[in-house]
Amino acid sequence: MIARLAIRSLLPAIIPLFIMTAQTPSATAQDVADRFDKVKVRDVISRRFTQQEMYGWLTPIVQAGTVRITSAGTSAEGRTINLYRYGTGPVKVLLWSQMHGDESTATMALLDIMSFLRAEPGHPISRAVRDRLTVLMLPMINPDGAERFTRRTAQAIDMNRDAMRFTTPEARVLKSVHDAERPDFGFNLHDQDTRYTVGTTRQITAIALLAPATDETRADNAVRLRAKRVAAGVATVLGRFIPGKVAKWDDTFEPRAFGDNMQRWETSTVLIESGGWAGDPEKMHLRKMNFVALLCALHEIATGSYERNDPAPYEALPFNMRLAFDVIIRNAKLQTSPGIPAAIVDVGINVTPGTDSTEVVASVEDIGDLSTYTAYKVYDAAGAELDARLVILENKLTAEQLRSLLPQN
Ligand SMILES: [Zn+2]
Repeated sequence: MIARLAIRSLLPAIIPLFIMTAQTPSATAQDVADRFDKVKVRDVISRRFTQQEMYGWLTPIVQAGTVRITSAGTSAEGRTINLYRYGTGPVKVLLWSQMHGDESTATMALLDIMSFLRAEPGHPISRAVRDRLTVLMLPMINPDGAERFTRRTAQAIDMNRDAMRFTTPEARVLKSVHDAERPDFGFNLHDQDTRYTVGTTRQITAIALLAPATDETRADNAVRLRAKRVAAGVATVLGRFIPGKVAKWDDTFEPRAFGDNMQRWETSTVLIESGGWAGDPEKMHLRKMNFVALLCALHEIATGSYERNDPAPYEALPFNMRLAFDVIIRNAKLQTSPGIPAAIVDVGINVTPGTDSTEVVASVEDIGDLSTYTAYKVYDAAGAELDARLVILENKLTAEQLRSLLPQN
């Protein structure tokens, strides 16, 4: 009896020791991050690329036998949508990216992940994933939109509002892969507006996460709870690299969206939205963050360690809010017309790069107290007067006009 008690009391000490012999989750994440520059697909240097270019980059990985390739169907314009398969394990994970043709950050990361799996077949993550999981990847599920770098499909439809009616061939491709494979887990990979903030923290959201609801009540069921545990692991990993820059998406149920329906179809689904990163318009840093987060998530699913994740790190993330502009000019004097008192104001301006990078078109979005807002670039006018002919709500500005407004400091 005493001996049994002694062993039982030793168990809590022995079990952590046993786990410690493997890498800790944060060491795994750092290890993966350290390998990124070595394994990434080097030819991907811009976030705008076509399906043809992508297939060219994937050819050596397919030829090496790392991933198996099958045709999942064709787009409205006749482009073949390939399904890439890695591993032979019992747990199936489906990852799809670029349903919106101009949201390519995670597509880049999926290419980098396949490149990692090819370059590092003996890595503990590669082995665990290969043995325990079957990973199914649909990078660039909307290749016609990607061709034009626009959100919608060639039929002008937002395919992420087509998971009820299945009008588009692209939505039918995704559904047919789901029906054929019945994946246990799903990753729905997007880019969001770069001007979201992490709640009211004045931090631009780098990545936002969501374990979508399965109905209007937003109640948890086992499928969604499992997704929240995976999302909590992703939040923890990202919190190590980009602390304070991870937000949560609003979980209002959208009956036409794929994430919500995948969850209803019993695939525990996590939405990952890449946002903005100052000074990195091509999103190469967020590409790396997707690479790290997804590889670690696959590893957690493969080892089953996600089951021990408390959902709290996910639940505690602040919601995305829209409290950012591209440019804020603070403390400027503005007199809208003669005879009206001048006021000291902040001016919020958004910038949309044109077809030619010199042809930037900006728009005056707000005027007044913008102290609760942040911006990629903040200028202090220190009371200097702004040209009231330009600073008019919703007024469009040329690049030259914008430059003329910015304080020279
Ligand atoms: Zn999207």
